[in-house]
Amino acid sequence: MAAIEMRNIVKKYGDGFPAVNDVSIDVEDGEFMILVGPSGCGKSTLLRMIVGLEDITSGDMVIGGKRVNALAPRDRNLAMVFQNYALYPHLSVFENIAFPLRLAGRPESEVESKVRDASKTLELDEHLQRKPGNLSGGQRQRVAMGRAIVRDADAFLFDEPLSNLDAKLRGQMRTEIARLQKRLGITTVYVTHDQTEAMTLGDRVAVLRRGVLQQLATPRELYTQP
Ligand code: ADP
Ligand code: ADP
Repeated sequence: MAAIEMRNIVKKYGDGFPAVNDVSIDVEDGEFMILVGPSGCGKSTLLRMIVGLEDITSGDMVIGGKRVNALAPRDRNLAMVFQNYALYPHLSVFENIAFPLRLAGRPESEVESKVRDASKTLELDEHLQRKPGNLSGGQRQRVAMGRAIVRDADAFLFDEPLSNLDAKLRGQMRTEIARLQKRLGITTVYVTHDQTEAMTLGDRVAVLRRGVLQQLATPRELYTQP
């Protein structure tokens, strides 16, 4: 069973041309799936429909074998990592990672152990008392991922997480994300318009154009196909 099944997904805004037009993609358990294509091709819309931030016009979204079309974002157990990381500047790294657990009213002992485990995995255990403002871009990204990890999310979703960074940092972060995802083995859907990110990060790459799925292949297959 695929972790995320998109079945004939259509999205129309108003009565215009469909932003997403009959797209079917299976994301396997633990797979790193890239959604790539030029601006306006529908990749963010598709990602937002997975998370539940956008209604589906027709088709089925199935997550962990369960149809989720009508489920609110908070009931989907997914973790979206935003472009700006959305960290709380006045809270320590520890409290930033702990935030979803606090929100859910988890007991202190559980908060402690989950934050410690996540920060070890992410090599943040030396920085738990610092504020996000004193961290590097790479460390901030890891704090954002830590917040996702402690929720035991079924999948990570990234919407152009590197597009605001300069070229050097972007290269470092690309390596970092690839390494973390391999270590964690968590299902990931990653939106980008950057060919290099698509070809280096993805187990498979879904190429969208004007809302239509044009290709779905491994990077190696895409290199050797015309
Ligand atoms: P991408 O992420 O590939 O740049 P989007 O999913 O943001 O593409 O947009 C796909 C299409 O849907 C575009 O034509 C865009 O203008 C349109 N669109 C996106 N969001 C909205 C919205 N909230 N209302 C109307 N049209 C939208
Ligand atoms: P509410 O909808 O109750 O006002 P929020 O919008 O802050 O509150 O979201 C509540 C919960 O919904 C979050 O704890 C989270 O589980 C989920 N959620 C909201 N937005 C996202 C997102 N972009 N990615 C993943 N989960 C989300």
